[in-house]
Amino acid sequence: MPNRQRSFRLEGVVLSHHDWGEADRLITLFSRERGKLRALAKGARKPRSRKAGHLEPFNRVSLLLAQGRDLPLITQAETLATYPAFQEDLLRMGYGTYLLELIDRFTVEEEANPALYHLLLETLERLSQSQQPSFELRYFEVKFLDEVGYRPQFFHCVVCQAAIQPQDQFFSCEMGGVVCPNCAVQQRSLQPVSVQALKYLRHFQRSTYSEAQRAKIPPVTLREMEGLLRLYLQSILERGLNTPKFIHSIAQLKEPQAESSGTNNL
Ligand SMILES: [Zn+2]
Repeated sequence: MPNRQRSFRLEGVVLSHHDWGEADRLITLFSRERGKLRALAKGARKPRSRKAGHLEPFNRVSLLLAQGRDLPLITQAETLATYPAFQEDLLRMGYGTYLLELIDRFTVEEEANPALYHLLLETLERLSQSQQPSFELRYFEVKFLDEVGYRPQFFHCVVCQAAIQPQDQFFSCEMGGVVCPNCAVQQRSLQPVSVQALKYLRHFQRSTYSEAQRAKIPPVTLREMEGLLRLYLQSILERGLNTPKFIHSIAQLKEPQAESSGTNNL
């Protein structure tokens, strides 16, 4: 009797793929319907595979999947959009890869975030054409932090809550926001932030893309924004990544036999 498998359809962007077994490929994608998801493309590394070409990073795809024993299996793949600019220009590919990596590292599996999916599509489109990739990436990072729940506080001091005045300030990655010069004397590990950089960070946070685009940001300020956002993103990831490791080690202590039985495929 044929094994009736539950099928479902998804739209998503391929984040990465890895070789799996003899001829298969493990695909990580960020989908509109289910957020991040891993699925297996059987036989995708065989020369005649019809799926392989669709399942390249950056591609926006429509997939038909069947619930497999461990992982969903990709039974049909169709490309909805490609961004060849990322393959043609190495630097642009680097920017695009950074984008996909942020999505991958800040999301958990099976948690839909349609707003983040929309932001990803828009940014892929912009980044593949833009003459000012640094602007696109900074705007993305500010909006991205909103969507993943780490919106930095740029308007009030995170220590005393006073409204931020137009002067050079400090930023605390740990507290996730600006620290005013008065409070800064008592704090450690602060990052200075110029009034200029802060002005544009605030502008990005409260503006639509077309509003934000009207700003003529000096390159030196964009670099400062990049440095600050990078530090903040990294500090969240370092904090965030320790937790699963900790949970995993506790789980192993509690269930020493869990590792040797059952799910050995992952
Ligand atoms: Zn303060």
